[in-house]
Amino acid sequence: MSCIFCKIAAGEIPSARVFENAEFIAIRDIQPQAKVHLLVMPKAHVECLDSSGAAEVNSKLLNTAVEVARQEDLAADGFRVVVNTREWGGQTVAHLHLHILGGEQLRGRFA
Ligand code: 5GP
Ligand code: ZN
Repeated sequence: MSCIFCKIAAGEIPSARVFENAEFIAIRDIQPQAKVHLLVMPKAHVECLDSSGAAEVNSKLLNTAVEVARQEDLAADGFRVVVNTREWGGQTVAHLHLHILGGEQLRGRFA
């Protein structure tokens, strides 16, 4: 198993875990781009939003992100969700993950 997020999900690489259920974990991003920057990912390896196997995961991933945002008190003020996909989308880790950014007023909008 060489994928870094698989290793994080398995607990082989330490992370600041804020949420876990049977299928997903949420961790703090190691290089936060906002006051609160979380990554939500399936425990099982799926490469990206458009991979085979992603269809069963994508909607649950989004719903889990909302649950995590509520748990972390981000929902009332608002937060942003980003899923970088493949090379042109800026994906650097090829294990599906959703960014939650919040905890402050976000300024930029897109690229
Ligand atoms: P991407 O660029 O693929 O959308 O996002 C990958 C994210 O994973 C980046 O924001 C990066 O900071 C984060 N990241 C990469 N390696 C690690 C790690 O070992 N631990 C944690 N917590 N985050 C990581
Ligand atoms: Zn993986």
